Amino acid sequence: MAHANSVAVIGLGRFGASLALELMSSGTSVLGIDLDEDIVQSLNGELTQVVRADATKREALEQLSLNEFDRVVVAIGNHLQASILTCSKLLSMDIPHVWAKALDDQHGLILEQLGVHHIIYPEKDMGRRVAHLVRGSMMDYLEIDRGFAMVKMTTPKVLQGLKLGDSNLRKHYGVTVAARTNDEGRWQHADAQTVLKPGDRILVLGPISDTEAFGQLPD
Ligand code: ADP
Repeated sequence: MAHANSVAVIGLGRFGASLALELMSSGTSVLGIDLDEDIVQSLNGELTQVVRADATKREALEQLSLNEFDRVVVAIGNHLQASILTCSKLLSMDIPHVWAKALDDQHGLILEQLGVHHIIYPEKDMGRRVAHLVRGSMMDYLEIDRGFAMVKMTTPKVLQGLKLGDSNLRKHYGVTVAARTNDEGRWQHADAQTVLKPGDRILVLGPISDTEAFGQLPD
């Protein structure tokens, strides 16, 4: 396996398997590793290579030439000890980008203290995202980074029928409309001349609290 455009995924549970398959579909080579023989069998042929191994064992990781990978994802969540041991071994092998899934904040803190480069909180992040969708009129919600978010929503009444340039949107609501759907439903950039109609979908960017408040406006 050429390792430059390759990712190793350790732990092929629901999260790891879905991640590995998505990477494959976007043209990345994936080495999948799991302790469970049935899981390895079920993904055989779906990934570039699938191997049964105990990732907490340094010899196993060395045998699989994990040190030659730039990016390794530890998708073991429910087995805290295995997650910590695996991350610690990978870090001692000087892999430049170790990603690891944390089940909760405590788990995340330990991974951070170990020096894991990227920590993912899939359950927590998804819960927060769905909460935004359930609560209001937003169609999609994505936290971009600490404090900033992007929201897909239908045009609220306050924006309908006037040029975005005249709406004082940033001053009044702290947000920016980056894109809108046209009559065929296709996305295009929004600019100062854009006039939005009822039913148009828009992509709004801004600080979390502002996008949340804006997302609740009636349409
Ligand atoms: P999910 O919630 O995404 O299904 P889990 O944390 O339950 O994730 O699953 C993690 C996967 O990691 C399981 O398939 C399990 O067999 C695997 N696993 C656990 N310990 C090890 C280990 N030491 N080495 C390799 N794989 C492991």
